[in-house]
Amino acid sequence: MPVYIGLDIGGTKCMVAAADAAGRELARARAETPTGLREGLDLLHAMIARVAGDAPIAGIGAAIGGPLDYATGLVSPLHQPEWRAVPLKAIMEARYGCPCAVDVDTNVAALGEYRLGGVTADRFLYMTVSTGIGGGFVVDGSLYRGAGGAHPELGHQSVPPRCAHPARVACECGAPDCLEALASGNGIRRVYGKPAEALTDAEWAEVAYHLGQALRNLAAIYAPGVITLGGGVAVGGGSRLLDGIRATMAAHTRLVPLPDVRLSALGYDTALRGAISIAMHGF
Ligand SMILES: [Zn+2]
Repeated sequence: MPVYIGLDIGGTKCMVAAADAAGRELARARAETPTGLREGLDLLHAMIARVAGDAPIAGIGAAIGGPLDYATGLVSPLHQPEWRAVPLKAIMEARYGCPCAVDVDTNVAALGEYRLGGVTADRFLYMTVSTGIGGGFVVDGSLYRGAGGAHPELGHQSVPPRCAHPARVACECGAPDCLEALASGNGIRRVYGKPAEALTDAEWAEVAYHLGQALRNLAAIYAPGVITLGGGVAVGGGSRLLDGIRATMAAHTRLVPLPDVRLSALGYDTALRGAISIAMHGF
């Protein structure tokens, strides 16, 4: 029985899963991501061998940090400095003799959530709030892509800070006032001097306000029916975050329908499940 392989390649950890032709997961492996490129590729091949066993591989899908070119499958993930212009798609297709689809992790997660998370909206926005902030937009079942295939960066929209320490707000991209500088895991550490899990209720309310304003911006521009939030900060924040986001959006969203804002149905598996889905069905 042929299997489909999903790869979720992150800056700190990798997950690999094998699924059957119905998309049911058969086996999974997880490991720390090595710094070196050679070690990283060797590890992926070993993990694929472990989850696939003797079964022939019918397709591979990979979720990895950008920037990358999804058409050629050349990847240069920002948080893996030794991976530069790596032909991941070509490497996998040559080794396993099957198609390999590669995309930015947040796009893959968006498709995973859309196809497997019970979303029925034809305009669907997924945002991950994790170490950084990013997202993907699904329109009539297909990923929205920017000019020349560019990946939109939802975390780098401008949101005016309204917090106790505005002088500490600084984005890693170089701009002073991005959403990511206010509400991502790294941004929260810089602004509040502690990890998200240690925030007080008042501090969560500030983070929720900033996320709510950012999602209000996106609702005003794109009018999505459903917005799903994933990633460790969003899942960990839970209702403390979601309630504040909904209240901010309800108070500030005018002229466009108020989107249904939810937490991810797939939790930490959105990108991995999405990778299996693009292995089976492409984009
Ligand atoms: Zn930025």
